[in-house]
Amino acid sequence: MSGSREFSFRFTPPAVPIRFDESRCVGCNRCLEACMIDVMLPGEAGKHPVAAYPDECWYCGCCVMECPTGAISLHHPLMNQTRWVEKASLLKHREEET
Ligand code: SF4
Ligand code: SF4
Repeated sequence: MSGSREFSFRFTPPAVPIRFDESRCVGCNRCLEACMIDVMLPGEAGKHPVAAYPDECWYCGCCVMECPTGAISLHHPLMNQTRWVEKASLLKHREEET
């Protein structure tokens, strides 16, 4: 049929909330044990855990606080990074501009 369009879907992998610095990780699994909802599974012996269920992460930061070497960091999705600004302060800013 002329004029028909083909649509394709692009798979977007879920955002990975936790990242590991392999040069710092000692493979102690304290981060894994601190996670209340078991986002991680153990990795290879002596290596960092694997973020097996990243969609379940609450971004609570417990794993980050528990890590003795600072090898794990939390990365919030853009939606979580938006900053709430009081409306009155925006209006004040606008008044100052005029
Ligand atoms: S931030 Fe919280 S919920 Fe997410 S992996 Fe770390 S401990 Fe688990
Ligand atoms: S707590 Fe830190 S050092 Fe231990 S396994 Fe997790 S990321 Fe690696």
